[in-house]
Order: sequence, then structure tokens, then C-alpha cells
Amino acid sequence: RHGSGQQRCATFTYKTGMDEAHQRELAIIQGLAPGLERGELSLVYQPKMALADANVHQVEALARWLHPELGPIAPDEFIQLAERSGQIRLVTEWVVGQITRDLAQWREEGLDLGVAINLSADEIAQTALEQTLAPLFQAVGEAESITLEVTESALLREPENALQNLRALQARGARISVDDFGTGYSSLAQLKQLAPDELKIDKAFICDLADTPADQFIVDLIIDLGHKLGLEVVAEGIENASAWRYLSRKGVDLMQGYFLARPMPAGDVADWFADHQANHARWLDRAVDRK
Ligand code: C2E
Ligand code: MG
Ligand code: MG
Ligand code: MG
Repeated sequence: RHGSGQQRCATFTYKTGMDEAHQRELAIIQGLAPGLERGELSLVYQPKMALADANVHQVEALARWLHPELGPIAPDEFIQLAERSGQIRLVTEWVVGQITRDLAQWREEGLDLGVAINLSADEIAQTALEQTLAPLFQAVGEAESITLEVTESALLREPENALQNLRALQARGARISVDDFGTGYSSLAQLKQLAPDELKIDKAFICDLADTPADQFIVDLIIDLGHKLGLEVVAEGIENASAWRYLSRKGVDLMQGYFLARPMPAGDVADWFADHQANHARWLDRAVDRK
């Protein structure tokens, strides 16, 4: 994976033989439904901060799986296997249910939060999508928002169904975000067709931003493209002050990454917000660094 130029961020890979890899895949595929049943999966939430006012209106839900024998399984691994084995809808239904419970808890704690949910390319074209997401639309209040993070590949397989689905969801008030922008297989014509509300620059371009001129050119181009198309531009994977400074100078709209906050359990979100409020002046200072 190294040398592909897309996996330089902190990550880990498995080195296993074929048999072992195959057995692991089987265990994951077969363990998913019972794992959901037994409460082995959970959600963590990562804030997205608006550069304009240093406020956080939205958190992104990210799935976690703690397997009793295999230990933690990364979503990059199990989501793909869930897709391949026809179980992705099961996962998304669970994610939606968990988010609605967490939204209710946050409301009790006085937090009105929008949520971003990741959708697999596979399920964008499925007719059941709107039905799967229905409880989420019921759970968010007037002030909050739903963002659906989809990858560029969303339109590859069944573009007509996918577009119809996304238009219907946008009509119900959801924002569409193109996740991992710049690393997928798509054309600019497809981006135009997709007509999203948000572009999310992939973290592969962000993690070494300050030291990598090529990344800077690409990031500048994406920001410019997004803004000229009238979209909000988000940077994910901001790990350090130098990348933060660069992106704020360039006027990225929403900032996300370990530098602001790591993904956290729902129960920690209220404390994190109190802390962010307490340090609001400092974040605002950093935000207007661009001037
Ligand atoms: P993504 O949606 O692009 O999420 C960004 C990933 O980068 C997350 O990894 C997040 O934890 C990580 N990240 C955030 N800030 C930083 C940072 O500053 N530095 C670095 N190095 N990484 C950062 P995670 O949670 O392992 O998720 C991986 C991918 O799995 C996600 O990429 C998303 O495509 C997918 N995924 C996660 N949860 C779900 C889900 O509920 N449904 C679906 N369909 N996909 C999901
Ligand atoms: Mg995402
Ligand atoms: Mg991403
Ligand atoms: Mg990703």
C-alpha cells in the first residue's frame, strides 16, 4: 500500500497469509449479525468545526467493532465485507437507530447537534435507502441537520437510481457530502451530476500538507473548485497546527481532525462541547489566522 501515495496517514495493515486472511474475512462476515445483536458494535463521533465562527454544529458518526476474539476491527475492513456479503443495510439500520438514541441523550444534555452519517457506495442506489434513513429524519429537530457522506464511487454502478435517491434525500433537507474527495474513481462531470452540498478533501492530502507542495497544489485546487461550484469545503484528517493554519488561510469552511478532536463516545460529547466553549476564544483566534 505504501508508494500508492494515498496511505501515508497513520494507519495499520495486517500481514497475513492467504488462509489466515480468508478465515478472518469469514469470521467477520459471519460474526457481523450476531455481533450487532450482542452489542459489540458502537459509534464514536467526531466534531466538524466551522471556520467562520469556531462553532461546532455537527458531528460525524463512525462505527467501531470490538470483536470478542479478533479484538478491534476497523470500519475500513468490516464495512467493505458487509457490503460484499449483502449486510450493509443491516449495519446502516443499526447506525441510524444508535444515532437516534444518542441524539435524544444529547438533547437531554442541552445539545442540539447535526449528524453526518457515512453511506456505502453500494447502498446509495438501493430503493430501500430512504426507508432505512427515515428514523433519522424523524429524530433530528428543526435546528439540526443531516449530512450524508458518500464517496465519488456512489454514481458508478447505477447512476440513475443513485441520483434519484440523493435528490429525494436532499429534498427532505439532507446535505450531501462527497467524502474522500480526490481519491475515488470519478470524473468532474460526475461531480457536477451529483450536485452535492459539500466536498470533503481526503486526509491523504492533508496529513503532510505543510511539507508537501504537491498536496498544497491539489488542496488549493479542490478548495477553489468547491467554492466556485458553490459548495462548502471540508478538510478531514488535520493532525497538526501547521496544516490547520494552512487550511484556515485558504478559507476551508469546515475543519475536522485529531488536532480539533478525536472521535469520541456519545457520552463524552457534552463534556467536549463544554470544553470547546471554554476555549472558544482561542479557536476563534486560530480560525481568523487567515487574515
Ligand atoms: P471517513 O468517513 O473518510 O472517515 C475518516 C476516517 O479518518 C475515520 O477513520 C477517522 O477516525 C479518521 N480520522 C479522523 N481524524 C483523523 C486525523 O486527524 N488523522 C488520521 N490519520 N485519521 C483521522 P475510521 O473511523 O477508521 O473510519 C474509516 C472509514 O470507514 C470512514 O472513512 C468511512 O468511510 C467508513 N465508515 C466508518 N463508519 C461507517 C459507517 O457507519 N458506515 C459506513 N458505510 N462507513 C463507515
Ligand atoms: Mg466520512
Ligand atoms: Mg473521508
Ligand atoms: Mg475514508
